[in-house]
Amino acid sequence: MPIGPQISPSAAQLSANLRALRAQISAAAAQAQRSVDSITLVAVSKGHDAGSIRALHGLGVHHFGESYLQEALPKLALLRDLGLTWHFIGRVQANKTRAIAEHFAWVHAVDRLRIAERLAAQRPAHLGALNVCLQINPDGQGARGGAGAAQALELSRSIAALPRLRLRGLMVMAGAGGDAQANRGCFAQLRSLQQQLIAAGVPLDSLSMGMSGDYREAILEGATIVRIGTALFGPRLRAGLR
Ligand SMILES: *Cc1c(COP(=O)(O)O)cnc(C)c1O
Repeated sequence: MPIGPQISPSAAQLSANLRALRAQISAAAAQAQRSVDSITLVAVSKGHDAGSIRALHGLGVHHFGESYLQEALPKLALLRDLGLTWHFIGRVQANKTRAIAEHFAWVHAVDRLRIAERLAAQRPAHLGALNVCLQINPDGQGARGGAGAAQALELSRSIAALPRLRLRGLMVMAGAGGDAQANRGCFAQLRSLQQQLIAAGVPLDSLSMGMSGDYREAILEGATIVRIGTALFGPRLRAGLR
């Protein structure tokens, strides 16, 4: 499928962006008195071509995130030689679960049991467990997906009990219009929910939170995975890609 018009950042631009981003991540980690090694950078490559991904891999990035299956699959095929770790970060439609379970190592936006059950049933036995995060929508705002905080305990227990999946943690998208303070509050809520679930006996080691505009606040509140597109690759031109 054609990816459409896009501006491919130059190798020099990617390298400069990555250096600046890593410095910011290190600074936020230092401010939070956390080890920078506790934070995984997922480079969100939706809207960008395989060449840019290959260039970033050459600079030491191994985790990449995609939101749209049709766009992602040809890129995964072109880059198979690199052994990258692929994260599916988009909304999961029921009719796409088989391909997602077959091609990705992580799924970040699981928000209902039916989707988790399909992923578990369709994960090929020869692959290791599929890592999943439960997406939470803390205040039910906007059109974003995500389960309510009130359902999190029951849902996470049910998902954790499924074979071939490994429930790793929680994921959130902060409100797009939120200011830094509001976003930080949202991330703090996710962290406290994670602690409640751990106390209730659900073992979770991951918090997937923080995008280009708010990853510093997310790191201050304990993010273990930041999902960053624009700050690395520059703007996405393809229509429909947020
Ligand atoms: C697109 C996307 C991102 C990256 O957004 P940027 O603002 O470009 O960093 C992160 N997470 C999800 C779920 C996304 O869809």
